[in-house]
Amino acid sequence: MELLEMYSGVFLNNLAAASIGTVLFVTAMGYLGFPFWLWTIVLSGIMFGFGVPSVVIVLFIALSLVFIIPPLRQVLVSSGVMKLFKVMKFIPQISETERTALEAGVVWAEAELFSGKPNFKKLMSEPSPKLTTEEQAFLDGPVEELCKMIDAWQVYRLRNIPDNIMDFIKNNKFLGMIIPTEYGGLGFSNLLHSEVIQKISTRSITASITVMVPNSLGPAELLVHYGTDEQKKSWLPRLAEGKEMPCFGLTEPQAGSDAGSIVSSGVLFKGEDGKIYLKLNWNKRWITLAAISSVIGLAFKLRDPENLLGRGEDLGITCALIPANTKGVVLGLRHDPLSIPFYNCPTEGHDVVLVANDAIIGGLDKAGHGWKMLMESLGAGRGISLPAQSTGGMKLFGLFSLGSCN
Ligand SMILES: Cc1cc2nc3c(=O)[nH]c(=O)nc-3n(C[C@H](O)[C@H](O)[C@H](O)COP(=O)(O)OP(=O)(O)OC[C@H]3O[C@@H](n4cnc5c(N)ncnc54)[C@H](O)[C@@H]3O)c2cc1C
Repeated sequence: MELLEMYSGVFLNNLAAASIGTVLFVTAMGYLGFPFWLWTIVLSGIMFGFGVPSVVIVLFIALSLVFIIPPLRQVLVSSGVMKLFKVMKFIPQISETERTALEAGVVWAEAELFSGKPNFKKLMSEPSPKLTTEEQAFLDGPVEELCKMIDAWQVYRLRNIPDNIMDFIKNNKFLGMIIPTEYGGLGFSNLLHSEVIQKISTRSITASITVMVPNSLGPAELLVHYGTDEQKKSWLPRLAEGKEMPCFGLTEPQAGSDAGSIVSSGVLFKGEDGKIYLKLNWNKRWITLAAISSVIGLAFKLRDPENLLGRGEDLGITCALIPANTKGVVLGLRHDPLSIPFYNCPTEGHDVVLVANDAIIGGLDKAGHGWKMLMESLGAGRGISLPAQSTGGMKLFGLFSLGSCN
């Protein structure tokens, strides 16, 4: 009897030690992030050590293999789980606007950065663009001269860019850098666009924003890509020469980041002359250059209650060009965002009526295509101008820091 107690005591002590050791080992494996296949080997070994029947161990290994081999896992587990999630409505639906945003544009080197495991060799082997001789001359000539002319402190005190500087900007086609030469613009590259904004930003943020906006979204970029021939011929040369001052109104008091939820509206109706007209009502805020604009690019939700286009009532987000002097257009008091005196103000439209085919960017064919246009084209501002402005600021900051060290 004593012998039995002694042996069972030893056994229990060994069992306790083995269990504690196992728990510690498994915790360490979890902490170190062991891959699943290694877990399978280790756990099978532990089970073997504890005398688990081999049939159970074989079943465990077979089950683990289903999770270790992706094609097996996808067929036997993931597809079933996903179906169940869909039936139980666990997965949020992607809206039409979200799908358009996801599918818009192309992917370039930045995909590496977002992959979580960038291939730096691939990134570094991307060819770097070069300025053309003409572009370099623009940078060394008019851009240099503009930088010498601007006095940021004067602009800050005046709360305006002096007229002679605005004239210089317009006369040298700074507002038409992205407009093709056939329409009177400079037809410059994204690289030049970025270099110009960077350089001007080191002298005056107000001036760089004034140059940046007409060269980003609005609305020349949209016209170049989607405008009808008539719209391109009519608007682009005047925009390139600064005879028209553009702005683009997307943001509303209740729709900022979530731009798809705008409520500004347009309604199609037939006039007595048989033409299709567009009646617009809008309320936009934070619109850069609106305060001095002569043409407003506008995003709104379009309805066709009489089904004049034969595509149902709700046509969706649409972009149009509205001359700022049209009856019903209100340009509000200037905002003073960031205390940097670039022109920015709210704008409202009250029953503004225009010929629909002329006003809608791309004509009636492109009614309802506004969201796709925005998703494909907002990238110029978000991907080129704004980062260029920040880079210019950082370079200036770097220069100051170096200066103070010396
Ligand atoms: C100087 C300036 C110039 C501008 N110029 C123009 C212009 O020319 N044309 C134009 O149309 N608009 C313009 N805007 C508006 C600009 O596009 C909006 O400010 C921007 O889209 C953000 O919208 P919001 O200000 O309403 O902020 P909100 O959308 O209300 O965001 C407020 C905060 O909430 C966060 N947030 C929002 N949604 C989420 C989410 N789902 N998850 C987590 N965080 C979230 C944001 O990151 C932010 O920090 C300008 C704005 C400024 C400040």
